[in-house]
Amino acid sequence: LTEAAYARIAETDERIGAFLTLNEEAARVRAAELDQAGAAKGLLHALPAGIKDNIVTKGLRTTCASQFLSNYDPIYDATVSGKLQDAGAVTIGKLNMDEFAMGGSNENSSFRPVRNPWNTDYVPGGSSGGSAAAVAAGQVYFALGSDTGGSIRQPASYCGVVGLKPTYGLVSRFGLVAFASSLDAIGPITKNVEDAAYVLQTIAGHDRMDSTSADVSIPDYVGSLSGDIKGMRIGVPKEYMGEGIDPKVKEAVLAALRVLEDLGATWEEVSLPHTEYAVATYYLLASSEASSNLARFDGVRYGVRADDPDNLIDLYRKSRSQGFGQEVKRRIMLGTYALSSGYYDAYYLKAQKVRTLIKRDFDQAFEKYDLLVGPTAPTTAFRIGEQIGDPLTMYLNDIVTIPVSLAGVPAISVPCGFADGLPVGLQLIGKPFDESTVLRAAHAYE
Ligand code: GLN
Repeated sequence: LTEAAYARIAETDERIGAFLTLNEEAARVRAAELDQAGAAKGLLHALPAGIKDNIVTKGLRTTCASQFLSNYDPIYDATVSGKLQDAGAVTIGKLNMDEFAMGGSNENSSFRPVRNPWNTDYVPGGSSGGSAAAVAAGQVYFALGSDTGGSIRQPASYCGVVGLKPTYGLVSRFGLVAFASSLDAIGPITKNVEDAAYVLQTIAGHDRMDSTSADVSIPDYVGSLSGDIKGMRIGVPKEYMGEGIDPKVKEAVLAALRVLEDLGATWEEVSLPHTEYAVATYYLLASSEASSNLARFDGVRYGVRADDPDNLIDLYRKSRSQGFGQEVKRRIMLGTYALSSGYYDAYYLKAQKVRTLIKRDFDQAFEKYDLLVGPTAPTTAFRIGEQIGDPLTMYLNDIVTIPVSLAGVPAISVPCGFADGLPVGLQLIGKPFDESTVLRAAHAYE
């Protein structure tokens, strides 16, 4: 399987651009070890895996697709990287992304863009575009991505694969390079829902190395895929089916709802009234947290250091000016502004309060429904270059994934057909820590 993965990469990745670093030598040694008689057989035995390049891997270059970390070789494994190893997966390499996970098209990678395997003139989505494209192109069996405001679900949707963002805190963030710590979540990108259940089973669980990791017992996700969703109550947020949603995407979602109905579920419209404030709230909070998290990149502790500084301040300034790309700088400036004294109450604090209102919309809906269903993204993939000059349009692509991130609840994207030859994604959103229901419904649908 390892050889097949590298052969497929050799054949396709010049066009796709999913990988930033390959782990060929170590992967072959590892595969040979797993091949030996008597080798322990974990849940993911010998399966070729790709890991997004913001998840640290011991001794294997981890760049976050940033010039700043272009020479960074971590001295430890993220908790999830270790768990994959323990389960027998083979790390094939590190996957391309938007720099520091900021973006929704993979055009913000400072190395090269990723192309959508279904049509290479189109973006794969982002920021886990490399992860989604690698799975869609058959280069790896599964990949890990990270989702702060949609970065697993939206690229999964654009590339016609499955992407699961778990409940905040279910999967350890230890070793994930932080973007917005109160929102970041690691999850699987896979070819089907069953695979997603296997990978989640492997990576979920409490970790004392992450203070926000939840101490909850982990159910049998794979065992919950019974196919039975009779009597399941589904709410369809009307804000997710209204203005700005491509009619063809809406049509595909309505067709999927009919399938769920045939399987014995019932659905009706529900309102999440604060949806319209989600994008603004997210960009204030995520940028604020990013500006604080990215302060650690000073040219002293990590990555590339600028040459010939005049003094310490100049070293910081030069290293950060040279190391960060345009979008990352935009976020740092936005976030620093929102957190600055005099503006804090008006922006950051206000956004925190609105976040609570958005969370309450979900709490209320889940009093009545087991699941919320809608599109994953308002459109299918767009052309490379089409939106890159217009950050606001780009930000609006996450209009239906961001509220879920702000609420911290789990959601999956599964393929639900095509529009104009490109995949459409169906988003199924669950109660906190109720990944089992999300997976069961997605599996029954698929
Ligand atoms: N596209 C969103 C952003 O640019 C989401 C990114 C993410 O989830 N990492 O912030």
